[in-house]
Amino acid sequence: MDALRIKQDFPLLRNSGIVYLDSAATGQKPEVVIDAISTFYRTENGPVHRGIYELAEQATGTFEAARKAVADLINASPEEIVFTSGTTDSINTIAAAWAAHTLQKDDEIVLPVSEHHSNMLPWLELARTHGVTIIFVSLTPDFKLDIEDFLKKITPKTKLVTFALTSHIFGNYPQEYIRVIINKAHQVGAKIVLDAAQSVGHMKLDMQLLGVDFLAFSGHKLFGPTGIGVLYVNKKNFNDIAVYRMGGGMVQNITLDALDKKECALWKEMPYRLEAGTPAFAQAIGLHAAIAYIKDTISYIKLSEHEDALITHLKKLLTKYDDIVIMQPVYQKPVHSSLLSFYSMRHHAHDIAAWLSQYNIAVRAGNHCAQPIHQRLKIPASVRVSCHAYTTMHDIDAFGHALDELYENK
Ligand code: PMP
Repeated sequence: MDALRIKQDFPLLRNSGIVYLDSAATGQKPEVVIDAISTFYRTENGPVHRGIYELAEQATGTFEAARKAVADLINASPEEIVFTSGTTDSINTIAAAWAAHTLQKDDEIVLPVSEHHSNMLPWLELARTHGVTIIFVSLTPDFKLDIEDFLKKITPKTKLVTFALTSHIFGNYPQEYIRVIINKAHQVGAKIVLDAAQSVGHMKLDMQLLGVDFLAFSGHKLFGPTGIGVLYVNKKNFNDIAVYRMGGGMVQNITLDALDKKECALWKEMPYRLEAGTPAFAQAIGLHAAIAYIKDTISYIKLSEHEDALITHLKKLLTKYDDIVIMQPVYQKPVHSSLLSFYSMRHHAHDIAAWLSQYNIAVRAGNHCAQPIHQRLKIPASVRVSCHAYTTMHDIDAFGHALDELYENK
């Protein structure tokens, strides 16, 4: 894969000289995405699902084409795709529109302790308000997901299993882990919510093969704009989805004399019943352009080979420092990852990131919205280097040289 060529498609990267190693936080945007949004606003902007005139009808068609593109990307049906504002919003939506009225006191939710706050706080809040019990799965001391612990904790009391398909700190899990967790959850009749924020854009996802109930991701991590995300709802759960935010666009019929009835209105079917208010349609169109860019430019197999080569090289650069702990789990078979986290005994993570910034190098430092796992590991903070299709070996070398200078000077 020619990362240097791909980099030319990204105006911010080709013009600024920034060594951008923070794609897990947000991806940079290719010109085609920026242009698609700009063209839409310049020539096609109109309200969706609201107007009986040509501009509005065309905008509605373009918006629904974006939904179809998302559905095709993950092998789902368009009605299973709810547009949200991001992964966080998608997970909160599931907590409010499904879990809050389905789960009962003492039902159990099982999730790894290493989850992002976005896939932890909505469940902790549900425990507080609805009395459900949260069961945390541990990591092993060498940063692996403790699969035995995970499987042991999924029992007939488990009503929901949730985890990030790709950890934003530790990378991917072995494929067979995903398979056995999903199988065990199915065996006990638990629903499955997957956080795919770090997966989509790096790997092919197929909802028919995965067989989960809900999946969440953000547009901005796969070269799309901010303000748009996706919640996939497997259609077998449609009857259990309640409305939780109300407003325009999600109601079929409202009559004021129905106030004493169970529901105050007749709601639209999925996915519209979960899309109250004017949707982020220009952003959805930007996301469509991002998906088209990925389809046209990136082979997932070549991308993983490329990212593996970058991460292997990075690891080699880091191992020469004996005070640096690389937080990358080593499983029996090699597992692909586009990111690597580490911490140093000598330099605080924030100091490393600030030092690298002097060289125009961007990495993430802190607890990465995952305080509980940092607390468990007794690490105040870590550094994360994350790559994408535009990351080059030269970027990793620039990082290595700047780090060498930190160690030589301080
Ligand atoms: N889950 C994971 C694994 C993430 O990495 C992130 C973003 N860092 C989120 C959830 C939240 O995504 P967003 O902020 O786009 O809603």
